[in-house]
Amino acid sequence: SQESMEKGRKTADAGADCSLRPGVGQHQEEAPRTKHCVKAAKEHLIPEDLNKVLENKVMETVSDLYHVKVSVVEMTCSGDADSEGIVSKSVSSHSDLIPGVYEGGLKIWECTFDLMDYFSEAKIEFRNKTVLDLGCGAGLLGIVALKGKAERVHFQDYNSTVIEEITLPNVVANCINEGSSREDRKASKPPAKRPKNAEASTEVLNKCRFFSGEWSEVSQLLLSSNKPFSKYDIILTSETIYNPDYYSALHDTLAQLLDKNGRVYLASKVHYFGVGGGIYLFEKLIEERNVFKSSIVKTIDEGLQRCIMEMAFKDSS
Ligand code: SAM
Repeated sequence: SQESMEKGRKTADAGADCSLRPGVGQHQEEAPRTKHCVKAAKEHLIPEDLNKVLENKVMETVSDLYHVKVSVVEMTCSGDADSEGIVSKSVSSHSDLIPGVYEGGLKIWECTFDLMDYFSEAKIEFRNKTVLDLGCGAGLLGIVALKGKAERVHFQDYNSTVIEEITLPNVVANCINEGSSREDRKASKPPAKRPKNAEASTEVLNKCRFFSGEWSEVSQLLLSSNKPFSKYDIILTSETIYNPDYYSALHDTLAQLLDKNGRVYLASKVHYFGVGGGIYLFEKLIEERNVFKSSIVKTIDEGLQRCIMEMAFKDSS
């Protein structure tokens, strides 16, 4: 609803106001400047018992995909999610569900739908590709890539609660229902009650990894880990350039994680009123850094102006 969108926007913006801005915030004197509010990276493993992931979750369908009902998560988890490990707990929260800095991953932002439309229009091929859904929130973009037979899909969100309570359940619900019919989904039968092919779903889930934390920390974790890691052919990112304070970290993360011939598809509002970010400012940073070439491949004019940007390394083929 419009109301919950506004609520989401406000909390996201409030979070954006504090986090990662060195030296700004309530604990300026106690905390070392460089470490203030920077959220460590963590990998979230998929629990063996998949039913546990969907326990207490109510699913709805959004653009023909399963998505957990966030209002139910808020009711069932409120107050018990204290795992964020964020230095400053006094800044924004989302109904107590997310302690500390919240970056907006609990709701599906409209550019996600723009990017999904663009995938079909531009016939973007995910088959056999390695894909990262960066700043994933619900993870619908990565789920579309999985359904498009990507070889590997990784999901990242700033908040661990979002990964555990929203992204992971969404991926599991959509994977274990790969074989279910459109009619089943239309009837909104709970995913666990439908016939499922356990082997097929495990195979799809084995393609996925889940990470929380700040971008530069996550990229460090990936690059320094002893698990094999190959750079991404495609990085998808929607509504992640609202705050100019993050541009440097975002740009460097894309540069570190994208394969030399890979592509980034970034969906964004043209301007984020109140926070100051927007596509032109991000374009300017791209030009200054001189690492990527970028082009606006689509603009959407209804409502707030939005666009899709494609990025590739300057020396890519
Ligand atoms: N992509 C989702 C969508 O379109 O619905 C969520 C968009 S939400 C507004 C912004 C996302 O970017 C959040 O998922 C948040 O976790 C992530 N994010 C923002 N700033 C970040 C940062 N500095 N480090 C890591 N993740 C960040």
